[in-house]
Amino acid sequence: MIDEVRKLLAEKFAGQNVSATADERGIVTLSGECTDWKTLVRVGQAVAKVPGVRNVVSDMTAKGVTIPHKDYTPFVKAGMEKGVLDKVDVVIIGAGISGCGIARELSRYNLSVTVVEMGDDVASGATKANNGDIHAGHAVQPGTLKARLNVEGNRMYTKWAEELGFELQRCGALYAIVEPEMMKALGMVLKIARANHVPGARIVNAKEALRLEPKLAAEEERLGKKIIAGLWLPSMGVVEPYQVAVALAENAAKNGVKFLLDCTVGQVLHENGQVKGVVTEKGIIYADYVINCAGVYADEISEMAGDRCFTIHPRKGTIAILDKSTPPMYSALAGVATIARVMGTKKDPESKGGGMCRTPEWNPLLGPSATEVPDKEDNTTTPEDMEYAMSRNMDPNAGWGDVIRLFAGVRPADFKEDFVIGMSDITHGFINVGAIQSPGLASAPAIAQMAVEILLDDRAMGGNPAEAKTDFDPIEPRHVEFRHMTQQQRDELIAKDPRYGRIICRCEQITEGEILDAVHSRIVPTSIDAIKRRTRAGMGRCQGGFCQPRVLELLARELGRDWVDITLKGRGSNLLVADNREEVAK
Ligand SMILES: Cc1cc2nc3c(=O)[nH]c(=O)nc-3n(C[C@H](O)[C@H](O)[C@H](O)COP(=O)(O)OP(=O)(O)OC[C@H]3O[C@@H](n4cnc5c(N)ncnc54)[C@H](O)[C@@H]3O)c2cc1C
Repeated sequence: MIDEVRKLLAEKFAGQNVSATADERGIVTLSGECTDWKTLVRVGQAVAKVPGVRNVVSDMTAKGVTIPHKDYTPFVKAGMEKGVLDKVDVVIIGAGISGCGIARELSRYNLSVTVVEMGDDVASGATKANNGDIHAGHAVQPGTLKARLNVEGNRMYTKWAEELGFELQRCGALYAIVEPEMMKALGMVLKIARANHVPGARIVNAKEALRLEPKLAAEEERLGKKIIAGLWLPSMGVVEPYQVAVALAENAAKNGVKFLLDCTVGQVLHENGQVKGVVTEKGIIYADYVINCAGVYADEISEMAGDRCFTIHPRKGTIAILDKSTPPMYSALAGVATIARVMGTKKDPESKGGGMCRTPEWNPLLGPSATEVPDKEDNTTTPEDMEYAMSRNMDPNAGWGDVIRLFAGVRPADFKEDFVIGMSDITHGFINVGAIQSPGLASAPAIAQMAVEILLDDRAMGGNPAEAKTDFDPIEPRHVEFRHMTQQQRDELIAKDPRYGRIICRCEQITEGEILDAVHSRIVPTSIDAIKRRTRAGMGRCQGGFCQPRVLELLARELGRDWVDITLKGRGSNLLVADNREEVAK
């Protein structure tokens, strides 16, 4: 295999100064310098496709590019000084959708579990910055782990939503065509969907397409062409991704899981091929199992466990969110795929082809893009990103003035472009749940199930099977959502508790009562963005212009903190510097 890799490098990437070595597991390590960052990524991806290559580890650099490296020493030093904090059965690193899903699944058993998250809240990484699509499974390479877990995860979402009280809308997806030449492309996508066992995927005729999504008629008029067919994927859905993560974490906490937020893991302890625990900045936690759900940092955490078996190449995606006053064009995730549009997307290698979709609250979304970046924390947005997002816009009624927010998230992609889930073959007890790029959200229930099965099987094989709890409570009641209530329901609620009669966020109609419900939940939100993710306060047209000071005041009051200590999104994002009112009054 290594000869094949070297041949590929010599033939296809002769201009790159890259060399390769491989270990007995099929992990190839690439070193040297590439001419630029995009080429570095292409080299890694091409090598990962060579038969026999299990994955690629990169020590490559690119000319003129500084790859930022996280320094874990201050966290390790702080943790070592503090000493032993706890001894548990399982530590989960990272409270994104993967970590929260696994925590909730593990909370069914008599096991002590702690989730350690470096952000101030759950869903601090990619989980808070994505489209929220519960993909059907038609866009993933058959035979991959992603394909299997996507379709399985999609199906499992129905139960998650029923039990955990979050909004899941099975709106379906419809890709219509107006040119006979596109029929072959539609057939190819159907073939992939069938190979992946996507339920209900089928080609529909024009009449059926227009019945499913009547508003497509307007697109026919605009294009001056008639719809001839469409691909219908009824299992496609949408969620608010952070809402799912919060609900999972709340339910896991209800069933005994501990969450340590604002706490970075700096070291994984292991000895003689056995994991021993982690050093966090708040102290050492000994554990029999460590599950790595660290998103873009999962490769570094795996290296800490002595198992360098993949490298994350961060892939940034930018999304524009539009005001609800310009409602989405379609109820389903629908659109017309024309030759010109498809060719336009192909010309732009940075494009994932993400078009328009919508949130369950009916905000249209434009994007995401897909840009390879060297920095794992590059959440910046630029005027070019805005232009890209607007280039995805197909709605003649929507314009630049409708964009209320442009945001970016970073996908944790590896060079194999598949999920890395499994027990380390070097450090027993260390389980990787890494490279969870899209469709990681859609796959989350199946990812959780798979990770937990690995752990339970291992315990059972060691003669120590985990017992299921008899008092596991899978239910999280749905929170009060004043904005969706009838006038009568509102009156009854306010009569019981007048705090639901005080509107804090005018754009989204969020009440003081809802904010207080959030503050007094199990996973305590301590920042303004954490409140936003739970209640939608600040998610409307004015983006918190009016409600942010009031949310800050409520947080300070309820948490017993000074105003100056309340942050926008955790450490270092304080909004106020000092209380200078007396000074100003003088
Ligand atoms: C723009 C964009 C659009 C997307 N759209 C979709 C979509 O529509 N549908 C879909 O299915 N998927 C989508 N995805 C992919 C999806 O968002 C991810 O697959 C998923 O969120 C990954 O979840 P995770 O929990 O594995 O990682 P993350 O959410 O990134 O969580 C990892 C967590 O680990 C924490 N962490 C890292 N290092 C440490 C440490 N040392 N100590 C403690 N904590 C640590 C981080 O703070 C973070 O909170 C999209 C992604 C992006 C960026």
